[in-house]
Amino acid sequence: MQFPNGRRFAFTILDDTDDATFENVVPVYDRLREYGFRTTKTVWPLDCPEGSQEYFAAETLQRPEYLSYVQQLVADGFELASHGATMEPSKRERTLRGFEFLDRHFDTKLQLYANHGENRENVYWGVERFRTPLFRWLVRAVDRDRRNGHYCGEVEGSEFFWGDVCRERFRYVRNFTFTSLNALSFNPEMPYAVSSTPYVQNWFSTSDAPTPEVFRRRITRSAIDRLEAEGGICILSTHFGKRGYVSNGRLDPGVDEILRYIAAKPGWFVPVSEILDHLSAQRPNRSIGRFALARLELRFLMDQIFERLHLRG
Ligand SMILES: [Zn+2]
Repeated sequence: MQFPNGRRFAFTILDDTDDATFENVVPVYDRLREYGFRTTKTVWPLDCPEGSQEYFAAETLQRPEYLSYVQQLVADGFELASHGATMEPSKRERTLRGFEFLDRHFDTKLQLYANHGENRENVYWGVERFRTPLFRWLVRAVDRDRRNGHYCGEVEGSEFFWGDVCRERFRYVRNFTFTSLNALSFNPEMPYAVSSTPYVQNWFSTSDAPTPEVFRRRITRSAIDRLEAEGGICILSTHFGKRGYVSNGRLDPGVDEILRYIAAKPGWFVPVSEILDHLSAQRPNRSIGRFALARLELRFLMDQIFERLHLRG
Protein backbone atom coordinates (compact mmCIF):
# COMPACT_ATOMS: atom_id res chain seq x y z
CA MET A 1 0.00 0.00 0.00
CA GLN A 2 1.36 3.41 -1.04
CA PHE A 3 0.62 6.46 1.09
CA PRO A 4 0.91 10.12 0.09
CA ASN A 5 4.13 12.04 0.76
CA GLY A 6 6.16 8.94 1.52
CA ARG A 7 4.17 8.20 4.69
CA ARG A 8 4.68 4.61 5.81
CA PHE A 9 1.38 3.72 7.52
CA ALA A 10 -1.97 5.29 8.37
CA PHE A 11 -3.57 5.84 11.76
CA THR A 12 -6.82 7.59 12.48
CA ILE A 13 -9.72 7.52 14.93
CA LEU A 14 -13.48 7.28 14.54
CA ASP A 15 -14.92 8.73 17.74
CA ASP A 16 -18.48 7.66 18.53
CA THR A 17 -20.12 10.46 20.45
CA ASP A 18 -21.62 8.32 23.27
CA ASP A 19 -21.12 10.12 26.63
CA ALA A 20 -19.27 13.01 24.94
CA THR A 21 -19.75 16.47 26.41
CA PHE A 22 -18.15 19.82 25.71
CA GLU A 23 -16.06 19.47 28.88
CA ASN A 24 -14.78 15.97 28.23
CA VAL A 25 -13.96 16.25 24.53
CA VAL A 26 -12.08 19.57 24.51
CA PRO A 27 -8.93 18.22 26.25
CA VAL A 28 -8.83 15.25 23.84
CA TYR A 29 -9.25 17.24 20.64
CA ASP A 30 -6.94 20.04 21.70
CA ARG A 31 -4.26 17.40 22.09
CA LEU A 32 -5.02 15.60 18.80
CA ARG A 33 -4.87 18.91 16.97
CA GLU A 34 -1.62 19.89 18.66
CA TYR A 35 -0.01 16.55 17.67
CA GLY A 36 -1.10 16.91 14.05
CA PHE A 37 -3.86 14.28 13.94
CA ARG A 38 -6.96 15.05 11.87
CA THR A 39 -9.48 12.42 12.91
CA THR A 40 -13.22 11.84 12.54
CA LYS A 41 -15.76 12.87 15.15
CA THR A 42 -19.37 11.76 15.11
CA VAL A 43 -22.00 14.03 16.61
CA TRP A 44 -25.63 14.08 17.64
CA PRO A 45 -27.24 17.22 16.29
CA LEU A 46 -30.53 17.02 18.22
CA ASP A 47 -31.54 16.69 21.86
CA CYS A 48 -33.49 13.69 23.08
CA PRO A 49 -36.50 15.09 24.95
CA GLU A 50 -37.81 11.60 25.84
CA GLY A 51 -34.62 10.98 27.89
CA SER A 52 -32.08 8.17 27.63
CA GLN A 53 -31.27 5.59 30.28
CA GLU A 54 -27.91 4.66 28.90
CA TYR A 55 -26.68 7.78 27.10
CA PHE A 56 -28.12 10.58 29.22
CA ALA A 57 -24.60 11.83 30.04
CA ALA A 58 -23.91 12.89 26.46
CA GLU A 59 -24.45 16.35 25.05
CA THR A 60 -25.69 17.28 21.60
CA LEU A 61 -24.89 20.15 19.28
CA GLN A 62 -27.85 22.00 20.74
CA ARG A 63 -25.38 23.33 23.32
CA PRO A 64 -23.93 26.44 21.65
CA GLU A 65 -20.36 26.15 23.08
CA TYR A 66 -20.14 22.56 21.91
CA LEU A 67 -21.47 23.44 18.45
CA SER A 68 -18.95 26.22 17.96
CA TYR A 69 -16.10 24.03 19.21
CA VAL A 70 -17.01 21.33 16.66
CA GLN A 71 -17.34 23.96 13.92
CA GLN A 72 -13.79 25.06 14.73
CA LEU A 73 -12.57 21.44 14.62
CA VAL A 74 -14.04 21.06 11.14
CA ALA A 75 -12.44 24.34 10.05
CA ASP A 76 -9.13 22.91 11.29
CA GLY A 77 -9.49 19.79 9.12
CA PHE A 78 -11.24 17.26 11.38
CA GLU A 79 -14.04 15.27 9.78
CA LEU A 80 -17.63 15.53 10.97
CA ALA A 81 -19.62 12.29 10.76
CA SER A 82 -23.10 11.09 11.68
CA HIS A 83 -24.12 8.81 14.53
CA GLY A 84 -27.82 9.39 13.88
CA ALA A 85 -29.98 12.31 15.01
CA THR A 86 -29.67 11.65 18.73
CA MET A 87 -28.94 9.05 21.42
CA GLU A 88 -32.28 7.17 21.21
CA PRO A 89 -34.26 5.87 18.21
CA SER A 90 -35.48 8.43 15.70
CA LYS A 91 -38.31 8.10 13.24
CA ARG A 92 -37.70 9.38 9.73
CA GLU A 93 -38.86 12.91 10.54
CA ARG A 94 -36.29 13.38 13.32
CA THR A 95 -33.51 11.72 11.34
CA LEU A 96 -34.07 14.19 8.48
CA ARG A 97 -34.37 17.13 10.89
CA GLY A 98 -30.94 16.16 12.27
CA PHE A 99 -29.40 16.34 8.80
CA GLU A 100 -31.07 19.69 8.14
CA PHE A 101 -29.51 21.03 11.34
CA LEU A 102 -26.06 19.88 10.22
CA ASP A 103 -26.60 21.34 6.74
CA ARG A 104 -27.49 24.68 8.31
CA HIS A 105 -24.51 24.83 10.67
CA PHE A 106 -21.71 23.28 8.64
CA ASP A 107 -20.43 23.95 5.12
CA THR A 108 -19.02 20.45 4.80
CA LYS A 109 -20.93 17.54 3.25
CA LEU A 110 -20.87 14.49 5.52
CA GLN A 111 -19.44 11.30 4.00
CA LEU A 112 -19.63 8.83 6.84
CA TYR A 113 -22.28 7.31 9.10
CA ALA A 114 -21.97 4.82 11.96
CA ASN A 115 -24.95 3.00 13.49
CA HIS A 116 -25.48 3.65 17.19
CA GLY A 117 -26.24 1.18 20.00
CA GLU A 118 -29.79 -0.11 19.81
CA ASN A 119 -31.24 2.71 17.76
CA ARG A 120 -34.08 1.32 15.68
CA GLU A 121 -33.17 3.40 12.61
CA ASN A 122 -29.81 1.62 12.33
CA VAL A 123 -29.33 0.27 8.81
CA TYR A 124 -28.70 -3.47 8.28
CA TRP A 125 -28.07 -4.02 11.99
CA GLY A 126 -28.66 -6.96 14.32
CA VAL A 127 -28.88 -10.16 12.30
CA GLU A 128 -28.98 -8.09 9.09
CA ARG A 129 -25.30 -7.23 9.59
CA PHE A 130 -24.65 -10.72 8.28
CA ARG A 131 -25.27 -11.76 4.68
CA THR A 132 -24.13 -15.37 4.83
CA PRO A 133 -27.13 -17.64 5.56
CA LEU A 134 -25.23 -19.88 8.01
CA PHE A 135 -24.09 -16.93 10.13
CA ARG A 136 -27.51 -15.32 10.04
CA TRP A 137 -28.96 -18.55 11.38
CA LEU A 138 -26.25 -18.80 14.06
CA VAL A 139 -26.59 -15.22 15.24
CA ARG A 140 -30.35 -15.54 15.41
CA ALA A 141 -30.00 -18.75 17.42
CA VAL A 142 -27.41 -17.64 19.98
CA ASP A 143 -28.13 -13.97 20.48
CA ARG A 144 -31.65 -13.37 21.66
CA ASP A 145 -30.95 -9.66 22.11
CA ARG A 146 -30.80 -9.23 18.37
CA ARG A 147 -34.54 -9.05 18.06
CA ASN A 148 -35.75 -9.66 14.56
CA GLY A 149 -37.38 -6.61 13.13
CA HIS A 150 -36.05 -4.28 15.82
CA TYR A 151 -33.71 -2.48 13.45
CA CYS A 152 -35.44 -1.10 10.40
CA GLY A 153 -33.57 1.86 8.91
CA GLU A 154 -33.51 0.02 5.57
CA VAL A 155 -37.08 -1.31 5.75
CA GLU A 156 -39.32 0.63 3.38
CA GLY A 157 -42.66 1.36 4.97
CA SER A 158 -41.27 1.45 8.50
CA GLU A 159 -41.60 4.76 10.36
CA PHE A 160 -37.83 4.47 11.05
CA PHE A 161 -36.95 4.08 7.36
CA TRP A 162 -34.29 6.44 5.96
CA GLY A 163 -32.29 4.05 3.75
CA ASP A 164 -32.89 6.18 0.65
CA VAL A 165 -31.37 9.20 2.41
CA CYS A 166 -28.50 7.07 3.75
CA ARG A 167 -27.66 5.97 0.22
CA GLU A 168 -27.89 9.49 -1.14
CA ARG A 169 -25.89 11.20 1.62
CA PHE A 170 -23.24 8.77 2.77
CA ARG A 171 -20.37 7.21 0.92
CA TYR A 172 -19.23 5.08 3.86
CA VAL A 173 -20.97 3.17 6.66
CA ARG A 174 -19.21 1.20 9.36
CA ASN A 175 -20.13 -2.42 10.00
CA PHE A 176 -17.64 -4.76 11.67
CA THR A 177 -15.00 -3.93 14.27
CA PHE A 178 -11.95 -6.03 15.17
CA THR A 179 -9.45 -6.44 17.97
CA SER A 180 -6.33 -6.23 15.80
CA LEU A 181 -5.08 -2.94 14.39
CA ASN A 182 -4.25 -3.39 10.73
CA ALA A 183 -7.42 -3.20 8.62
CA LEU A 184 -5.50 -4.44 5.58
CA SER A 185 -5.10 -7.75 7.39
CA PHE A 186 -8.72 -8.36 8.42
CA ASN A 187 -10.60 -6.52 5.62
CA PRO A 188 -8.29 -5.97 2.63
CA GLU A 189 -11.33 -5.46 0.36
CA MET A 190 -12.57 -2.34 2.14
CA PRO A 191 -14.36 -0.13 1.42
CA TYR A 192 -16.69 -2.69 -0.12
CA ALA A 193 -20.17 -2.74 -1.62
CA VAL A 194 -22.62 -5.59 -1.03
CA SER A 195 -25.32 -6.20 -3.62
CA SER A 196 -27.89 -7.28 -1.01
CA THR A 197 -27.50 -4.05 1.02
CA PRO A 198 -28.42 -1.47 -1.63
CA TYR A 199 -29.02 1.40 0.79
CA VAL A 200 -25.35 1.47 1.74
CA GLN A 201 -22.88 2.63 -0.90
CA ASN A 202 -19.79 1.19 0.79
CA TRP A 203 -19.05 -0.56 4.05
CA PHE A 204 -15.84 -0.42 6.02
CA SER A 205 -14.43 -2.07 9.14
CA THR A 206 -12.43 -0.63 12.01
CA SER A 207 -10.37 -1.72 14.95
CA ASP A 208 -12.12 -1.39 18.27
CA ALA A 209 -11.16 0.16 21.57
CA PRO A 210 -14.48 1.09 23.14
CA THR A 211 -13.01 2.37 26.44
CA PRO A 212 -9.75 4.00 27.60
CA GLU A 213 -8.77 0.72 29.31
CA VAL A 214 -8.99 -1.16 26.04
CA PHE A 215 -7.29 1.72 24.23
CA ARG A 216 -4.26 1.50 26.55
CA ARG A 217 -4.17 -2.28 26.24
CA ARG A 218 -4.43 -2.33 22.45
CA ILE A 219 -2.60 0.82 21.32
CA THR A 220 0.86 0.06 22.65
CA ARG A 221 4.28 1.07 21.34
CA SER A 222 4.93 -2.43 20.03
CA ALA A 223 1.53 -2.62 18.31
CA ILE A 224 2.20 0.72 16.60
CA ASP A 225 5.72 -0.37 15.63
CA ARG A 226 4.17 -3.47 14.04
CA LEU A 227 1.58 -1.39 12.18
CA GLU A 228 4.40 0.77 10.82
CA ALA A 229 6.50 -2.24 9.83
CA GLU A 230 3.51 -3.78 8.01
CA GLY A 231 2.73 -0.50 6.23
CA GLY A 232 -0.78 -0.95 7.58
CA ILE A 233 -3.90 1.11 8.12
CA CYS A 234 -5.53 1.50 11.53
CA ILE A 235 -8.93 3.13 11.85
CA LEU A 236 -9.70 2.94 15.54
CA SER A 237 -13.26 3.16 16.83
CA THR A 238 -13.54 4.53 20.33
CA HIS A 239 -15.68 6.75 22.57
CA PHE A 240 -13.60 9.66 23.81
CA GLY A 241 -16.53 10.67 26.03
CA LYS A 242 -16.13 7.52 28.19
CA ARG A 243 -15.01 8.01 31.75
CA GLY A 244 -11.25 7.73 32.12
CA TYR A 245 -10.09 9.48 28.95
CA VAL A 246 -10.24 12.86 30.67
CA SER A 247 -10.02 13.57 34.40
CA ASN A 248 -10.02 17.07 35.89
CA GLY A 249 -9.84 18.57 32.43
CA ARG A 250 -6.73 16.60 31.50
CA LEU A 251 -6.24 13.79 28.97
CA ASP A 252 -5.16 10.49 30.56
CA PRO A 253 -1.32 10.54 30.66
CA GLY A 254 -1.00 7.02 29.20
CA VAL A 255 -3.20 7.86 26.22
CA ASP A 256 -1.42 11.19 25.80
CA GLU A 257 1.96 9.47 25.80
CA ILE A 258 1.07 6.93 23.12
CA LEU A 259 -0.54 9.60 20.90
CA ARG A 260 2.69 11.59 21.10
CA TYR A 261 4.63 8.42 20.23
CA ILE A 262 2.47 7.80 17.14
CA ALA A 263 2.60 11.46 16.05
CA ALA A 264 6.42 11.38 15.98
CA LYS A 265 6.34 8.59 13.36
CA PRO A 266 6.12 9.01 9.56
CA GLY A 267 2.43 8.09 9.51
CA TRP A 268 -0.52 9.46 7.56
CA PHE A 269 -2.92 10.99 10.10
CA VAL A 270 -5.97 12.11 8.12
CA PRO A 271 -9.72 11.59 8.63
CA VAL A 272 -11.36 8.22 8.03
CA SER A 273 -13.09 9.21 4.77
CA GLU A 274 -9.83 10.46 3.29
CA ILE A 275 -8.20 7.10 3.97
CA LEU A 276 -11.21 5.25 2.50
CA ASP A 277 -11.14 7.53 -0.58
CA HIS A 278 -7.47 6.64 -0.99
CA LEU A 279 -8.28 2.92 -0.81
CA SER A 280 -11.21 3.35 -3.24
CA ALA A 281 -9.00 5.08 -5.77
CA GLN A 282 -6.64 2.12 -5.78
CA ARG A 283 -9.39 -0.46 -6.20
CA PRO A 284 -12.22 1.01 -8.29
CA ASN A 285 -14.29 -2.20 -8.32
CA ARG A 286 -15.82 -2.07 -4.87
CA SER A 287 -18.16 -5.08 -4.87
CA ILE A 288 -17.12 -7.93 -2.59
CA GLY A 289 -17.58 -11.58 -3.51
CA ARG A 290 -19.69 -13.94 -1.46
CA PHE A 291 -16.67 -15.91 -0.29
CA ALA A 292 -14.69 -12.86 0.82
CA LEU A 293 -17.73 -11.55 2.67
CA ALA A 294 -18.28 -14.88 4.42
CA ARG A 295 -14.62 -14.87 5.48
CA LEU A 296 -14.98 -11.34 6.88
CA GLU A 297 -18.13 -12.27 8.80
CA LEU A 298 -16.48 -15.40 10.17
CA ARG A 299 -13.44 -13.40 11.27
CA PHE A 300 -15.70 -10.97 13.08
CA LEU A 301 -17.58 -13.76 14.86
CA MET A 302 -14.35 -15.52 15.89
CA ASP A 303 -12.93 -12.24 17.13
CA GLN A 304 -16.04 -11.64 19.25
CA ILE A 305 -15.83 -15.12 20.73
CA PHE A 306 -12.12 -14.85 21.57
CA GLU A 307 -12.58 -11.38 23.00
CA ARG A 308 -15.32 -12.59 25.32
CA LEU A 309 -13.25 -15.59 26.43
CA HIS A 310 -10.28 -13.31 27.04
CA LEU A 311 -12.32 -10.87 29.10
CA ARG A 312 -13.79 -13.65 31.18
CA GLY A 313 -10.44 -15.32 31.68
ZN1 LIG B 1 -22.85 4.98 19.82
